[in-house]
Amino acid sequence: MKLTRLLITAAASALVSTAAFAEGTVGIAMPTKSSARWISDGNSMVEQFEAAGYGTILQYAEDDIPNQLAQIENMITNGVDVLVVAAIDGTTLSNALENAHFADINVIAYDRLIRDSEYVDYYATFDNFKVGVQQASSLVDGLKERFGDGPYNVELFGGSPDDNNAYFFYNGAMSVLQPLIDAGTVNIVSGQMGMETVGTLRWDGAVAQSRMDNLLSAHYTEAQVHGVLSPYDGLSIGIISSLKGVGYGSDDLKMPIITGQDAELRSVKSMLAGEQYSTVFKDTRELARVTVGMVDALLKGGEPEINDTKTYDNGVKIIPSYLLEPVSVDMSNWEEVIIGSGYYTMDEVQ
Ligand code: BGC
Repeated sequence: MKLTRLLITAAASALVSTAAFAEGTVGIAMPTKSSARWISDGNSMVEQFEAAGYGTILQYAEDDIPNQLAQIENMITNGVDVLVVAAIDGTTLSNALENAHFADINVIAYDRLIRDSEYVDYYATFDNFKVGVQQASSLVDGLKERFGDGPYNVELFGGSPDDNNAYFFYNGAMSVLQPLIDAGTVNIVSGQMGMETVGTLRWDGAVAQSRMDNLLSAHYTEAQVHGVLSPYDGLSIGIISSLKGVGYGSDDLKMPIITGQDAELRSVKSMLAGEQYSTVFKDTRELARVTVGMVDALLKGGEPEINDTKTYDNGVKIIPSYLLEPVSVDMSNWEEVIIGSGYYTMDEVQ
């Protein structure tokens, strides 16, 4: 254990908890506070690590890659025992992880796979392909419900091309949509397909909004858009603003079916207001629990619990993973899933 090397004066912005660090100290590098899910992930981990006897250093990098690199280097210098990293760009951490390896620090990729490094020990995440399947299945259900038998005019949005998850979401969704596109039931009116074309750098809602603006003015002055595949609630918000801007969301021009992910509070509210159609709930408290279990096993010489040894090739090796189950949420089950699990209270969503 490297507790004696822990400098409490880490980086000024770090949230350092040393109240109970008998078991070791964990450096937690999170991508951004601009999305509520990462705040929830960070809080759940600090709470659960502390309860298990660990100290924590929690840092958010506001989607700035050099910032995240500096934060991780600081954690290494400060002698953490384990690093838990949700990468901004999964391909830029190789040097930092090499330093962690030489300092005898284990590394867990949190939610997002860290690519191109042999020094990733475990990966805790959700079944990301299934997230995409759920998004597209919900889109198709919604299209039938709101627009009858079709054919439907649909546009596709992808996540950030530097996030490995984005490809899993997209490929999962396309496993459902491609056969419908081939059959002519779903029309991608713009013709824009493939992650290289529909990806949204840094998962930025403003970027999605302006792409939707462009799609509407270039391809939908005559045609009506019936559905938009959106992989993340923050993008859905931007897409919905764009659609409302040209009059969608009225009796004459019904709101298209719009998917999402993360069950962020504003998107749950949007769903209740009849705008966003669905989201995918991923219980960040559970992901924290799996991660704390992995760290505990690693530091105490046990075997971390995994349930997947095939799916996540990071370019150097296959990372042993634990995949949690995502849950598709729409108006039919939101109360049971979101309120019933205690993720939000009824007061919060109303
Ligand atoms: C996460 C999603 C999230 C997205 C944007 C992905 O890596 O798996 O839950 O919506 O990043 O933050």
